Amino acid sequence: MKTLKVVLVKPSKYAVDGAVERFEHGFMPNASLYHIASLTPDYIGSTRIEVYTVDEYVRGNLEYLDLLAARTDAPTLLALVGVQSHQFHRALDLAALARSRGVQHCVIGGPHAMTCDTSQMHGRGVSFALGEAEVVWHQVLEDAVSGQLKDVYSPGMRWQKTLEGAVVKPPAASELDRYVLPMLGLYPVRGCPYRCNYCSVVKIAGHPVRSTAIETTMESLRRAKAGGVRYIAFVSDNFNKYPNARDLLEAMIEADLGLRFFCQCDTHVVNQPELFELLQRAGCFEMFIGVESFNRATLKAASKFHNYPEKYARLAGLCRDHGIRAHFSNIIGFAEDTERSILDGLEILKGLNPPVASFYVLTPIPGTEQYDDFMAQGVITERNLDRFDTTCSVWTHPTLPGGELERLLYHCYVDYYRHLMRQQSRHDEFSEFTIFCRYIASQGIHPMAGGTGRLTLDRVEDYMALRRRTYGFEHADLPTSLDLSAEDRAFNQSSDWRKSARA
Ligand code: SF4
Repeated sequence: MKTLKVVLVKPSKYAVDGAVERFEHGFMPNASLYHIASLTPDYIGSTRIEVYTVDEYVRGNLEYLDLLAARTDAPTLLALVGVQSHQFHRALDLAALARSRGVQHCVIGGPHAMTCDTSQMHGRGVSFALGEAEVVWHQVLEDAVSGQLKDVYSPGMRWQKTLEGAVVKPPAASELDRYVLPMLGLYPVRGCPYRCNYCSVVKIAGHPVRSTAIETTMESLRRAKAGGVRYIAFVSDNFNKYPNARDLLEAMIEADLGLRFFCQCDTHVVNQPELFELLQRAGCFEMFIGVESFNRATLKAASKFHNYPEKYARLAGLCRDHGIRAHFSNIIGFAEDTERSILDGLEILKGLNPPVASFYVLTPIPGTEQYDDFMAQGVITERNLDRFDTTCSVWTHPTLPGGELERLLYHCYVDYYRHLMRQQSRHDEFSEFTIFCRYIASQGIHPMAGGTGRLTLDRVEDYMALRRRTYGFEHADLPTSLDLSAEDRAFNQSSDWRKSARA
């Protein structure tokens, strides 16, 4: 029987010191990896499809690289999935490695390929998927089976209009063991009605909110439970903008699977108090909320009109009253920010006292509106895509020179988690996560980098010669953003998302 070996890899990234970022244990399995594995049929025609999944962030040795080699009894397709701009060089290097070992087909998909011009790399044995998996994946598999991949897939269509999604098969127990908690990421809803200028989500997923059928999500949850998963991360942005959120939560309450879950909401959820009770009953343990800044003028300048800092206290209170851990996400380094305003924001945050807070450096992510503006203004100073990971300063800030933002980033973490430790010491209730965040940030490592127990097994230097030979550069040029096709533009404007933004 003919077989196609398919290796799905979520690539890691190169850290500032050049190491490939790896952890003994990760926080959360990558949602794209298992989603695409679940979209993969057992057969294409009479060819059997044999699938391997690799989350590079949690590989404690390099044995998995043996998968990136041709096999005599089956052609191989390497798919680098969910690749963001700061992971792009790593994805290119893995593709180059696989090609050098005789792998016949390589394709790179995810945010970078979908939103940025990759033509500099075309014709070098690596393909690029410009549409989401539901749009491109089956065609890629068919072409691999028939022997020849195209340079690009779906240049004219980024999104599936009616999202089919897939029932997600959970990772094997041996894979779940690689994470701090037996957790699965699900992405049942896509799209955001807002238009924050720094945000890549609206470029990757569009404005119309699309969702898979509730029964599809429920079946994924049932299988997850049966497969040993205990925690779910709904990685969809703005769970509260999902028109069927209540129906899904009620179905979860009814099914009583005992799964606890994390979700992401926009700050408008403060206007949906009834949702909190349902979330609590359905098992929500943490809500990630992009508060970003405590300065309304700063938020408006970033087109984040729906955030009202005066409502953040009520938001924290709603979470507390419903036993949900509020996770307030903060961005430092907006153009309007000064050291004083960042430190003032930190004091306000301490007053609100959310049990989890994260901090990120404002980064013009390639493909976003802000990136285009900053490129046009000529203020982007960093040329290496590895650094566009929200922990580094990559542009000329008006008042905070290079290095200052990184210093303030770690100061915010250490100071905030020191504050939480003091709070907790009053009740003798130390949280391991609080201690971890404070300790790791004091080492100059971002606590949200992805896991615990950093490992260094290989470094960018190990792959550079091959990169030069394969692509003719050490660093890819900073890309231009891809425009939407006329069809995608019409779709993006067609829906009732403006009403949804006000809901
Ligand atoms: S609300 Fe969140 S997902 Fe939506 S555009 Fe703003 S940052 Fe992006």
